[in-house]
Amino acid sequence: MGVIGSGVGGLAIAIRMATKGYQVTVFEKNDHPGGKLSQIKAKGYRFDTGPSLFTLPELVDELEDYAGEKKSQQLPYKKLDIICKYFYQNGKTINAYTDPERFAQECKKQVGENPDRIRTHLKKVEILYKQTANIFLFNSLHRIKNYFRWEVLKAVLRFDRVNLFSTMHNENQKRFTTPEVIQLFDRYATYNGSSPFMAPATLNVIGHLENNIGAYFPTQGMYAIAEHLHQLAVSKGVDFQFNKLVKRIVIENKQAKAIETDSGIHTFDIICSDTDVSYLADNMLQHPLEKRLKRMQPSSSALIFYWGVKKEFPELELHNIIFSNNYRSEFDAYFNKKTIYHDPSVYIFISSKMVKEDAPPGRENWFVMVNAPTTDGQNWDELIKETRKNIVKKINNRFNVKIENFIEYEEIGSPLTIEANTLSKGGALYGHSGNSKFATILRHPNFLRSIKNLYFVGGSVHPGGGIPLCLASAKIVDKEIPGNL
Ligand SMILES: Cc1cc2nc3c(=O)[nH]c(=O)nc-3n(C[C@H](O)[C@H](O)[C@H](O)COP(=O)(O)OP(=O)(O)OC[C@H]3O[C@@H](n4cnc5c(N)ncnc54)[C@H](O)[C@@H]3O)c2cc1C
Repeated sequence: MGVIGSGVGGLAIAIRMATKGYQVTVFEKNDHPGGKLSQIKAKGYRFDTGPSLFTLPELVDELEDYAGEKKSQQLPYKKLDIICKYFYQNGKTINAYTDPERFAQECKKQVGENPDRIRTHLKKVEILYKQTANIFLFNSLHRIKNYFRWEVLKAVLRFDRVNLFSTMHNENQKRFTTPEVIQLFDRYATYNGSSPFMAPATLNVIGHLENNIGAYFPTQGMYAIAEHLHQLAVSKGVDFQFNKLVKRIVIENKQAKAIETDSGIHTFDIICSDTDVSYLADNMLQHPLEKRLKRMQPSSSALIFYWGVKKEFPELELHNIIFSNNYRSEFDAYFNKKTIYHDPSVYIFISSKMVKEDAPPGRENWFVMVNAPTTDGQNWDELIKETRKNIVKKINNRFNVKIENFIEYEEIGSPLTIEANTLSKGGALYGHSGNSKFATILRHPNFLRSIKNLYFVGGSVHPGGGIPLCLASAKIVDKEIPGNL
């Protein structure tokens, strides 16, 4: 089997297929595995450059168990006590505790939200997850047979509860009374690169992962996930070809036959792509993929400043958000005006709060991120300069500091660098957005009827973006491919 790309999806399918007995070769254009899950090391600092929130770690456990890895050698991670610390412009803060009851009490104490409303919401999203996860996340929606299971029929009968016809924001407005808590729950739309003002309320289910199941963190930081899965794949005999850009998938007689790189044509019985499916359609396949692909709205991208900060901030946690004052205008800027809002919500992730070696003593490694549109002819140099100024101002006001004086190292990640590094079209973080009713459930399938032996994994195809769903995509493809060659 040939796998294109060593992102989370590519690593997971390589491990699964090697475990099943296939001989697997992974072609990766970069010199390291991980794709968007990557890292920078410089001047004594280490930064995770992509994902920072780790949910559903049991999907990593499950993959390791599947591959027969001993429990004692599996990826170590911890459950967080505080998922995220939220800062509002009215000076209020909320610590989102992993413990749901403590979180409900915190919302009451800090902003006066009725804890019963939090409890009811968390119950509702738990039920929604239980009713839908197995159907929508762990199965292909493109196999007719999957629709004739009792579990699916039950869910269809209860379709009104899935909340497809209201937006996340509208539903959250009905469920909560305080603007701070509404904004906090609206934020989950960004977990698949969407806007809470457009995405269906079904996506409120994302909150279940953090608020009920919990948020986690690998004890050696996020990149340890990629390193660990890479090592596991190698131990299963997977061959990694780094610095190998795949130019084309060769299709003959409606069958995927080979992969073309600079070093020639490599033939395989089965080919699996972890490439962003829009990039693949534009560049690597002489076969029309679904026309729908062109019409689908890309997910958001991000602008990130990696700062080595020569000061410690005890008021900050591992994950922090300083919210914008006008969330609606902020998302309007990303998705309609295709620019970055002048008062963006700023996410600050500091892995050195947990992994002490990630920054020199007395210092912190700040990953400062704002949402951004995908590339669309913007003047990025200007936009980055302007946004940096706005972020610095916001941080200085909030923490009464002159942060510029403490930044001793800086690197910048933008939609342009994300696109260049991972070949994700426009620098989209999650493939396509979930901004329309059916976008979330009608992502690109994991296989095609029109081309045999070609499969798709990763964040741009079903069931969606983010580490857990990329792992789920590999599980779905695994089920599609017979075992034991
Ligand atoms: C800034 C940022 C923040 C994020 N935050 C979170 C978060 O907190 N939590 C979370 O769960 N997710 C988050 N995500 C999303 C998550 O990182 C992705 O959904 C996931 O990592 C994508 O994995 P993938 O399998 O789709 O592969 P990708 O990571 O997209 O990697 C694809 C790989 O394939 C290689 N490749 C592509 N085409 C070719 C080719 N033709 N030839 C050879 N190699 C090729 C690329 O070089 C790349 O290494 C974030 C992403 C970013 C960028």
